[in-house]
Amino acid sequence: MKLASFAWGGRRSIGVVLGDEIADIAASGACPSTMEALLDLGAAGMAAARTDVETAPRLKLADVHLRAPVTRPSKYLAIAANYQSHIDEVKAANPDYAPPVHQRWFTKLPNAINGPYDPIPMPPETSELDYEVELAIVIGTRCRRVSVADAPSIVAGYAIHNDVSVRDWQKRSPTIMLGKAWDGHGPLGPWIVTPDEIGDPHALALSCSVNGEVRQRGSTAEMINNCWDQIAYLSTVMTLEPGDVIATGTPFGTAGSMKPPRWLKVGDIVRCEIEKIGFIEATVEAEAV
Ligand code: MG
Repeated sequence: MKLASFAWGGRRSIGVVLGDEIADIAASGACPSTMEALLDLGAAGMAAARTDVETAPRLKLADVHLRAPVTRPSKYLAIAANYQSHIDEVKAANPDYAPPVHQRWFTKLPNAINGPYDPIPMPPETSELDYEVELAIVIGTRCRRVSVADAPSIVAGYAIHNDVSVRDWQKRSPTIMLGKAWDGHGPLGPWIVTPDEIGDPHALALSCSVNGEVRQRGSTAEMINNCWDQIAYLSTVMTLEPGDVIATGTPFGTAGSMKPPRWLKVGDIVRCEIEKIGFIEATVEAEAV
């Protein structure tokens, strides 16, 4: 099932994507109108969505505005340096770079979450805007201290994430948060694909192109700490809640590691694709200040 959040006709709703249509599962009243509320219902919510698909009114997918599938997660966390190919390129660009020994986490923040096809803001305070295609995990079940073996059972599904990064601000502090949490710098979507349609999340091709030129190409098989390791590690520390978003790292090909760097500029079209999910695509626009 592909679960999407959308706006249409002046209202916001959630739906199940079926080819070029979307079933408006909140229209009948059986399902809540936000993804967060649906995920909070757990297995009952998923069952209600599957049942509602049969009778829900359908809209043309092209007629609705797809929003980020979740917009206000209680936690929006991202792992750094989780693909060796990315570690290698960062180290080549900066010989002082120390790769992680343990999983290295940083916070994105909900203000960064952006729609799958909405513009990426270029803030006037940076000239070093970068992209990172990533597989995002969306949590489906409240959990703490989940074992690696049990981790698959708490996942609601997967989405495509662009961990847009403001490198000059990122490099100012070892926490890197202020390079990662700018408004709109977390495009997410275009929908949540449930695990039954994904199978093994560690066997997915992913890529990022800028103006049609492929910059990043890899496989989620390259993750150093896989999805289950990440869930187990994070949930050791904190309770994970339905709707929480975990960004799982990016392969080589980032703009800042090129010689010379090829930063994003206004007008660029950034497309992130992941096998079995689809693509998200955005134009970089000067941020109005
Ligand atoms: Mg990243």
